[in-house]
Amino acid sequence: MSANRRQQIVRTTVKATSESQQFMEPVVVYVVSSELVKISSLLPSNQKRSLLLHSLIKAFGLLSPIPVSGKRGIQIVQPLPATIEELTLYHDSDYLNILLSSLNVESKANLAEWGLEDDCPIFPGLPEYVRMIGGATLTAARSLRHPKVGIAICWDGGRHHARKSQASGYCYVADCVLAIMTLRRTNLTTTSPTPMYRPKIMYLDLDLHFSDGVSEAFYAPVRSTLPWTLTLSIHHAASGFYPTSFLSDLPPEDPANCRSFDPFTLSIPLKEGASNRTYARIWPIVERVKEAFSPDYIILQCGCDGLSGDPCAKFNWSLGDEEGSFGWCVQRVVKQWRVKTLLLGGGGYNFPNAARAWAYLTSVVGYNSLEQLDQSLDLEVPIPDHEGFPYYAPSFTLNVPAGMMRDQNTEEYLRSIEYRYEHIIEMIKHRVITQPTS
Ligand SMILES: [Zn+2]
Repeated sequence: MSANRRQQIVRTTVKATSESQQFMEPVVVYVVSSELVKISSLLPSNQKRSLLLHSLIKAFGLLSPIPVSGKRGIQIVQPLPATIEELTLYHDSDYLNILLSSLNVESKANLAEWGLEDDCPIFPGLPEYVRMIGGATLTAARSLRHPKVGIAICWDGGRHHARKSQASGYCYVADCVLAIMTLRRTNLTTTSPTPMYRPKIMYLDLDLHFSDGVSEAFYAPVRSTLPWTLTLSIHHAASGFYPTSFLSDLPPEDPANCRSFDPFTLSIPLKEGASNRTYARIWPIVERVKEAFSPDYIILQCGCDGLSGDPCAKFNWSLGDEEGSFGWCVQRVVKQWRVKTLLLGGGGYNFPNAARAWAYLTSVVGYNSLEQLDQSLDLEVPIPDHEGFPYYAPSFTLNVPAGMMRDQNTEEYLRSIEYRYEHIIEMIKHRVITQPTS
């Protein structure tokens, strides 16, 4: 490609972007460092997943800087480890003392009390892991406060099962909760003496598993102040499937008369085999909830264990950009919603597929290379030759296609979800409009 032709593509695409998506012109921040990749790769459930992902992203050249009119498409930001003060914004200090101490396993008492057993064992490097993952997500969240930053990405974050004083489901640090609490402290007031305006934050979770740690943190069936956080988790729920929580069920049929129901703590449980068709069907509900709540920030947890080929083997979701696919849903949020968005990782136990998914989403969100400015990667593109190449056998392409699993989300079930959310969306509109700002 000639230099002139390349410049023409750059100009054309930037012009189209700035006219149709003024919000998108600002910078996309990508949080990564060699230290983060090294420490994140220590997590027993996801050993070396971060290494595989970032090797692939590098091989595709997705983070190459693109100087256009003095701007860059994706700006790499190095994470700062979280301080104790930042972690205690949510976590219990006794729990942190256990997590962050350098004592060996034998000398740590009552590990079960803190959830530090079974799927959340103590492992070498745990104190550094907790501080680095918490700090990476907070670094990304704080970057959104900058007026020119529209999207921030931290694929090593998204630990949605961790509690205030307990580890759970491979999650030790509640980085999603910390990000919400940190963004809430942002002052969005633009003129004085306007009363201080604090942002509303919508947390949307696409992981196969229910976001119990985040949903429970903000669950409040009785509120005395403005509802400023809304959590919505789309997940698989079935008897005995982790994690069990009454918050993971569909909203009640008669929500106005259900005292334990909180219209700002929402779930869309799906049955086995959920496919692009099912996601396309429920997605208008997600968008109507978002419109009713009108958030200032979105936190999108992009756990990819619902993709076909994951060892969890519960959903039959594909990565592709057809309507309802994983990539399509994320694209709707980042390209259509026009709200500052923090993208986090999460579950994903077929590591090459997790790397494929998050590399593809990075290309959807940001600019790629000079040749493919503002276009996502083609799903059939061959995996570039790099040290992780053998892991992508046998297809050696970026695609994660659907499998043969039958989608058990029947028409009748999908209609029942739509019916129940009709009431909920009206409740949200009413509560958001009628309550005073705080
Ligand atoms: Zn999961």
